[in-house]
Amino acid sequence: MSQLENKQFDSKITRRDLIKLFGATAVAGTGIFGASQQAYAKSAAHVVVLGGGVGGATLAKYLRFADPDVKITIIEQYPEYITCLRSNDVIIGMHTLDELTFNLDTIKNKYNVNVVIDTVIGADFDKKTVRTAKGDTFSYDKLVVSPGIDFRFEDYEGYDATLAEGAFPHAYKAGPQTLELRRQLLALPQGGTAIIATPQNPFRCPPGPYERASFFAEYFKEHNPTAKLLVLDPKDRFTKDVPFKKAWERLYGYKSDNSLIEWVSGSEGGRVLRLDAKNMTVETEGGSYKADLINIIPNQRAGKLAQIIGLTDSSGWCPIQRDTMESALHKEVYVLGDSSIADEMPKSGYSANSQAKVCAQAIADALKGNAPGKAIYSNVCYSLAGQNYGVSIAAIYEVRDGRIVAKGKSAGVSPITDKPAQPILEAVYQKNWQREFVKDVFS
Ligand SMILES: Cc1cc2nc3c(=O)[nH]c(=O)nc-3n(C[C@H](O)[C@H](O)[C@H](O)COP(=O)(O)OP(=O)(O)OC[C@H]3O[C@@H](n4cnc5c(N)ncnc54)[C@H](O)[C@@H]3O)c2cc1C
Repeated sequence: MSQLENKQFDSKITRRDLIKLFGATAVAGTGIFGASQQAYAKSAAHVVVLGGGVGGATLAKYLRFADPDVKITIIEQYPEYITCLRSNDVIIGMHTLDELTFNLDTIKNKYNVNVVIDTVIGADFDKKTVRTAKGDTFSYDKLVVSPGIDFRFEDYEGYDATLAEGAFPHAYKAGPQTLELRRQLLALPQGGTAIIATPQNPFRCPPGPYERASFFAEYFKEHNPTAKLLVLDPKDRFTKDVPFKKAWERLYGYKSDNSLIEWVSGSEGGRVLRLDAKNMTVETEGGSYKADLINIIPNQRAGKLAQIIGLTDSSGWCPIQRDTMESALHKEVYVLGDSSIADEMPKSGYSANSQAKVCAQAIADALKGNAPGKAIYSNVCYSLAGQNYGVSIAAIYEVRDGRIVAKGKSAGVSPITDKPAQPILEAVYQKNWQREFVKDVFS
């Protein structure tokens, strides 16, 4: 157990220790010193959150709203978090990575959350502890796990994590790979060919690859009008495909002889089998394609942490109780965000944020011995099909027959209209949403 942990659980803990660990507000609040032994026991509950990305940070903040006394610790491997949200914009120079970089300082200081920068390497669900790479052990009463995604490189012969870190970035976790992909786009020879290979369902941010494809085409239109983008897809449909394709028609000549984008569906042999890195060629079920830039966004599974601590099933994702996000495999452990199996909810930041709020309340209820309330989730995915052309999909979700499903007729996709203002307005909504969303998560 770390020094910090020893302090947290030392029964002779002093008031000064508590002020140091959780800040003055928590100590001044009701419960810890002024109340009965039972209230003390309740307020001493410790919730440990693994992963301080969208799901983990939202959970910590909203759990503090739901329970002013609970002790909360986030263990996050990196001191800074770069949002994938808007990371496609970085590829075309519409944002910088700095503008997408956040940390947990506000979560720590404003919401009395103990933030530990360390990598979690193991968990013991019987002893209710987690272990970190620096050799510390943390005890928990409730554990929340939101570790994002991992990639199935093994689905592609000739492609691996090392190539992704080098000349073939997937850029599907924002960071240096995003900048490398931008460099490659800018270096594409005039009249060159780029390939974006999209993943099989389910995967993080279902519209992400198609937004990226739109940005490539928009960039070509302005800077490299004889270049061509080939989108290789293992699927026959993709989210918001109708408004996306309409935008491609309107903006990039999709389906015309001079189209900047060609989309090869799964039935047309779009699934990628192999990368020949040396010859800059991808082999698909339908044939071979040579290109100057190859961006394979690999198939995915739950974050590695979820796999190593035993929260995944044979699908590679984490089964959960739909009304609370509690793991279906281990009690007192909750899984949020991309790693979880949330049925009809897409793997988006919006979903992770919505799930975290439901989960925070469910944990606060459970700590008080109360049954959880009815879970209602929501998601809106805004995407840009061009810098000033937005498309969106939205739904409210409820738990029905043991699954998370869209509620009634709540689901909707951007309509196709002849009103030029409509996609422009959606692009404005998109940009405003992103700005407000990161505040909801990190401030
Ligand atoms: C190109 C792109 C665009 C996107 N755009 C949007 C958008 O417009 N709207 C939207 O809603 N969503 C968008 N998303 C999806 C969104 O980024 C994810 O769905 C969201 O981040 C999921 O949250 P999470 O908490 O599950 O994972 P993350 O936010 O990835 O957080 C996981 C955290 O866990 C940490 N972690 C992992 N393992 C360990 C460990 N062993 N020890 C300690 N810490 C660990 C990681 O460092 C990370 O900080 C986009 C994604 C991409 C790729």
